[in-house]
Amino acid sequence: MADPARLSINQATTREQHSLADAIKAYAEHGVAGISIWRDKLAECGLDEAVELVRGHGLRVSGLCRAGQFPAADAAERQRRIDDNRLAVAQAAALDADCLVIVAGGLPEGSKDIVGAREMIRDALGQVLPEARAAGVPLAIEPLHPMYAADRCAVNTLAQALDLCDELGEGIGVAVDVYHVWWDPDLDAQIRRAAGRIHAYHVCDWLVPTRDLLLDRGMMGDGVIDLKAISAMVAGAGYDGLIEVEIFSAENWWKRPGDEVIETCKRRFQDCV
Ligand code: ZN
Repeated sequence: MADPARLSINQATTREQHSLADAIKAYAEHGVAGISIWRDKLAECGLDEAVELVRGHGLRVSGLCRAGQFPAADAAERQRRIDDNRLAVAQAAALDADCLVIVAGGLPEGSKDIVGAREMIRDALGQVLPEARAAGVPLAIEPLHPMYAADRCAVNTLAQALDLCDELGEGIGVAVDVYHVWWDPDLDAQIRRAAGRIHAYHVCDWLVPTRDLLLDRGMMGDGVIDLKAISAMVAGAGYDGLIEVEIFSAENWWKRPGDEVIETCKRRFQDCV
């Protein structure tokens, strides 16, 4: 049974119901400990206002989503993206976020060179990392399920993410999202290897059938992921931070009242995580 004091909700879970200000107020009213903030919603709210709201409501920011998206066809665009990552580091620092989530990016438009895309990711992370270290913001590489390798993220396993961390050194670790890693036959060993470098732990469930590759995540307990087993692995690796519920659900949870979604998250968090 997960400790309710460790519950954070990724605001994407109620992105259709709440602005950032509304999400902060609603989560706090329901006694949720943390929130993970998306940068598009942050832009609508304004950074100063967001900082004031999270402080005023006593919420901890379990992560800022998201930076990364590094590969691009030309140098000018790659630089633009690195600059955007630097801005994200500053935003995460202002919010006192536990980490900046890195969704590394996929293939540049028209490219078939996934090896090259992965080199761009490594090189760009190497450029952003010194500023993240200086700002005290841990970078959390989130490996995404391989079905997203082309269009979202060419870092697809924990092993691959940890290889990058090994190469880049201090200040960078991983975000473990059950939706992306639950199928991995090497999961136990890689979570052990990640000890001390897990900066975020995201939970939801994998529905059978999955009707949409991006927007049909399940509520914990409604799918096939052995959440308690993965939670035990993550705890075994020493992670004791907030646990974040992150559910993109266009046809179900995004259509329900925000209060119902939050209450269900709380209940399932205790029962299933
Ligand atoms: Zn995630």
